[in-house]
Amino acid sequence: MKAAMLYGVKDLRIEDVPEPEVEAGEVLVRVKAATTCGTDLKIFQRGYVERVIRLPTIFGHEWAGEVVKVSEGLEWPKKGMHIRAGNSAPCLHCNMCQKGKYNLCENMIWLWGAYAEYIKVSARMVLVNTQEIPTHVSYEEAAITEPLACVLHGVEEAQVKLGDTVAIIGAGPIGLLHLLTVKKLGVERAIIIDLIEERLDFAGKLGADETVNAGKVDATKAVKQLTGGYGADVVIEAIGLPSTWEQALKLVRKGGTVLEFGGCPPGTEVKLDAEQLHYGEVTVLGTFHTTPLHFRKALNLIASRTIDVRPLVTRRMRLENIKEAFEILSTSKTEIKIAINP
Ligand SMILES: [Zn+2]
Ligand SMILES: [Zn+2]
Repeated sequence: MKAAMLYGVKDLRIEDVPEPEVEAGEVLVRVKAATTCGTDLKIFQRGYVERVIRLPTIFGHEWAGEVVKVSEGLEWPKKGMHIRAGNSAPCLHCNMCQKGKYNLCENMIWLWGAYAEYIKVSARMVLVNTQEIPTHVSYEEAAITEPLACVLHGVEEAQVKLGDTVAIIGAGPIGLLHLLTVKKLGVERAIIIDLIEERLDFAGKLGADETVNAGKVDATKAVKQLTGGYGADVVIEAIGLPSTWEQALKLVRKGGTVLEFGGCPPGTEVKLDAEQLHYGEVTVLGTFHTTPLHFRKALNLIASRTIDVRPLVTRRMRLENIKEAFEILSTSKTEIKIAINP
């Protein structure tokens, strides 16, 4: 089968690799759509933590497809079923799982390999994190379950409430998914901040109430102005840079919450103002990844179109052109997600 193998930074090659063998409890799926993700772009541009991905590997983790092979005796899913699965499955018995923190599982298994004609879903993944896709939902929509699941988890932890003003730093795919989600939660105002005007325009079309170009105006001043001098109730950082992590703290009101959502490079340290945390009672939290429950919720919200993710796919490309797809994403101001069709 054809697969996109990642060998190192910007070293992505289409190769013929053996089709995976299906063992007990496993299924083989014909990938019908795989969507590009900020994490993929990060891995392509600068590498990633070894704990999660080991090179060389087929990468890509947002996908959906049709089951073509089912191991003997496995009752679900059935051949021909449309499914999505992964990209993670907690063990359910480690210390973290026992505490209900499934996203922090100490024995997490990950599923990479969406940029290929076929993907094998392991037994634990079948059991813990595989969902059937309703037939009215397209494969590319279903593929976006993964990032939406991460966003739902983050927004839940940050406790965004009806009537809040939320400021989101970053109008990339993850910032935009936050925007769609908090709008559905009934925020009074969603303010989105980015450096790229085209992205801000797009965010406006998706429902952002205010857009702030941090390259043209002082974002802190702008957010304060929009909030009567107080700052936002909740600030969500959706970029993953130390400078924007620190900026997020400047945009929040007293007693508000900062969700540092974007992962910074390993070893990063950021400055906190102790006064702001103590006298200002600001809550700062980070969230990582998501849980099987949120995957299910995310797919249901996509299927009901409560959260309509369709506008986020801005281009469709063949698997053979995947390197080009990532080069486009590295430079384009208008592309959000590219759906790869193997
Ligand atoms: Zn993703
Ligand atoms: Zn565990």
